Amino acid sequence: MELNVVDTHSHLDMPEFAIDREGVIKRAGQAGVKTIVTIGIDLKSSQEAIQLARSYPGVYAAVGIHPHNAEGVTEMDITQLQTMTKKSRVVALGEMGLDYFRNISPKEAQLKVFNWQLELANMTSLPIIIHCREALSDMLEILVKWSAKSALKGPKGIIHCFSGDLATVKTYVNMGFYLALGGYISYPSSASFREVIREIPLKNLVLETDCPFLPPQRYRGQRNEPAYTLSTLQLLANIKGLSIEEVAQTTTTNALEVFKISS
Ligand SMILES: [Zn+2]
Repeated sequence: MELNVVDTHSHLDMPEFAIDREGVIKRAGQAGVKTIVTIGIDLKSSQEAIQLARSYPGVYAAVGIHPHNAEGVTEMDITQLQTMTKKSRVVALGEMGLDYFRNISPKEAQLKVFNWQLELANMTSLPIIIHCREALSDMLEILVKWSAKSALKGPKGIIHCFSGDLATVKTYVNMGFYLALGGYISYPSSASFREVIREIPLKNLVLETDCPFLPPQRYRGQRNEPAYTLSTLQLLANIKGLSIEEVAQTTTTNALEVFKISS
């Protein structure tokens, strides 16, 4: 059976892919990664994501402002983002969220820009892609309130690079989020998280790479790329004692559902 896998989080616009972008996308397809969502981190990369999605079948775009880039963002920028959401092949808003680990943008700016984007999600009915690092309590407080009154029908979005405990899994799942797992689950430092993964129902999971960042352990030190989603697929199947085909099928169904992509 030919695999059909979705990389729900890549950054194909980044300079790391400048020389061989086309080859990277082709390699992904050959490996079975038929669908790639390329994610914006600011207005420029969001625009580039749209361009890439229009150029390559199987590539879709998410538009958003990453918490690192929140400083200096104005309401006018959010209006521009809103215009982008109306373009074809835009399937989500993000990535957006909070990052208190690196605090590259001040916390106040992060919160303001995150809340603006959550409002935009309500206006556009697009699912959201959440980046959260060292900010769990603020994140849950904001999302619990938001999701309770959100107009979004169906899944609310994806928690990117998830690595929380089972209580956090439950909170996110109850709000209507899928949890995305990437290459980092293979790192030695993820040993205890792999025990958590065993307990997360497959119906709540999707796959991602976050490429060019966070390559699976066996590719560490190299550039990550969408084809390596297969490595995470394999590990997830091992952890759960399921076949690769079953894990591929369920995570792909989940991903296509959240992005409303018809396969
Ligand atoms: Zn990312």
